[in-house]
Amino acid sequence: MKILVINAGSSSLKYQLFDMDKEEVLAKGLCERIGIEGSQLKHQPKDQDTVIISNPMKNHADAIRMVIDALVDPAYGVIKDMSEITAVGHRVVHGGEAFSGSVIIDAQVMKVLNACIDLAPLHNPPNIIGIEACKEAMPGVPMVGVFDTAFHQTMPPEAYLYAIPYELYEKHKIRKYGFHGTSHKYVAERAAKLLKKPIEQLKIITCHLGNGSSITAVKNGKSVDTSMGFTPLAGVAMGTRSGMIDPAIVTFLMEKENLSIKEVNDLLNKKSGVLGISGVSSDFRDIHAAADEGNKRARLALDIFAYSVKKYIGTYAAIMGGVDAIVFTAGIGENNAKMRTGILSGLEFMGIKIDEEKNAIRGKEIDISTPDASVRTLVIPTNEELMIALDTKKLVENMK
Ligand code: ADP
Repeated sequence: MKILVINAGSSSLKYQLFDMDKEEVLAKGLCERIGIEGSQLKHQPKDQDTVIISNPMKNHADAIRMVIDALVDPAYGVIKDMSEITAVGHRVVHGGEAFSGSVIIDAQVMKVLNACIDLAPLHNPPNIIGIEACKEAMPGVPMVGVFDTAFHQTMPPEAYLYAIPYELYEKHKIRKYGFHGTSHKYVAERAAKLLKKPIEQLKIITCHLGNGSSITAVKNGKSVDTSMGFTPLAGVAMGTRSGMIDPAIVTFLMEKENLSIKEVNDLLNKKSGVLGISGVSSDFRDIHAAADEGNKRARLALDIFAYSVKKYIGTYAAIMGGVDAIVFTAGIGENNAKMRTGILSGLEFMGIKIDEEKNAIRGKEIDISTPDASVRTLVIPTNEELMIALDTKKLVENMK
């Protein structure tokens, strides 16, 4: 069975074509600058050189057509005909409270997705356009929606409600949703496999640390709390996002700095986090380099990041009544050994101990704990695309 996975952003579209019999990627690629001058498709067929096709793409429908042409191209294509593709799995950022799992997309689902636009005005519209464009280009092929929020729908109300008037939750659906759910679910399931224990018997803290970062408490296979909230601005300090701050800072800043709603939003989303503290960069590699050269604010940014992740580890161990494993994933989690050490230092009292030799790895699935540690610390590269393909396969098989 072949499954196409689509991740549509506002001016980009990423894709991967999977052969699900072997769970391998046949081709992947990226359409950039959709609707902007200079649009191009980077297509990477398995075991072949990357092909760059520069062609105007007015919109996402043009982009999908170019992806299809590339996949069936006689020179660099990987399938003979589009009829070989059984289904398409779409990453959708926000499913609101409507979806606690992946779904086959029908007219009713499209209605709900449109209703969720208010909750994710930047992300959901391109996701919807991507689905519409695929439906048009591939009539009759089942489309599946896989939501970043779905895995967190198991959180109990005491975790997802904010202490503001309850009527505002009812009226505007203001609550914690959480994000990166596909990644947290994938690495938690992989962790259970590595530990050779049923996930239903495990307490796992998954740390997805990338440009955007979130930490999740996974108890018995279910998300019971997560650090991102109503939007992906909440939780730990991130590349450019503030993470948790006193909400009163927002109105204070608006008054003192004479900022508009948009300006304060931009400040907290794009100019804060480790970029805001260090003044150097949002990229951890640059910040480490600056800190190594003696830049104090860069060092402070790294310390603030490690401290905020450490706090969530403590909190989530408390709410789960213990922890069996800590998982690190995404750009920083998978590659940044120094940051893993910084986050976990001082947590030996909880039974968390890592072996620095094992920790000196990058991007590999590995247990980095010492043999005597009572909590396992795992590095697990995330694979959201495979998770989307697996969910899509399961749903289309059940259609038969
Ligand atoms: P996104 O959230 O955009 O998917 P990623 O998961 O790719 O982001 O993570 C990007 C972050 O990972 C950047 O801050 C980058 O510095 C960090 N990163 C990637 N590779 C390394 C590395 N080798 N050492 C330290 N940090 C790294």
